[in-house]
Amino acid sequence: MVAPGSPTVGVLALQGDFEAHRGLLEEIGATVREVRVPADLDGLDGLVLPGGESTTMTLGIEREGLAEPLRDLIGSGMPTLGTCAGLIVLDRGHLGLLDVTAARNAFGRQVRSFEARLDLAGVGDGVEAIFIRAPWATEPGPEVEVLAEVDGHAVAVRERDVLAVSFHPELNGEPRLHRWLLDRIAERGGAAAAARPTTTAGGSP
Ligand code: GLN
Repeated sequence: MVAPGSPTVGVLALQGDFEAHRGLLEEIGATVREVRVPADLDGLDGLVLPGGESTTMTLGIEREGLAEPLRDLIGSGMPTLGTCAGLIVLDRGHLGLLDVTAARNAFGRQVRSFEARLDLAGVGDGVEAIFIRAPWATEPGPEVEVLAEVDGHAVAVRERDVLAVSFHPELNGEPRLHRWLLDRIAERGGAAAAARPTTTAGGSP
């Protein structure tokens, strides 16, 4: 069902935990479209690249001809959230949309699944972050802001309206990163601009 005035967010649904992102986005008022082929990108206001397995996801992106349309859209400023494998897929060795190099499984392959409380500048404090065979981001370029670190390693980075994190906010219903995405859409004058007054007290009409 399409709520009037609600932003439409595409969730890449080739592989990985896209369902959990869908649920969280719908809870905070977005209309969600699963993206599997280039035509699914038409008319979107924002994008989420979920966690999963970055090699499988990258092969799927190539197979479906999604790489160029994703580069065009995100490169031209579409607000985007990447989580875990999504961070890897965005990095300079893959889609080249985030000026970092992701180190895969950087905390160790199997055992290093853990939780941490993080303060993410501009997103929220005390974020309960679940890490599962997570990457971290290395060699951030000059436009990249590191928002949070674990043991001195960047686990949340932002470049303009692309936010990428090593953890899984969708698994514990942490809504503030997805809200950040809707806020960026609203700032760009996307459909969320119409939706904001119902969700934010004191918003201008
Ligand atoms: N280890 C995975 C990869 O390298 C990412 C893990 C995840 O998304 N939870 O693709």
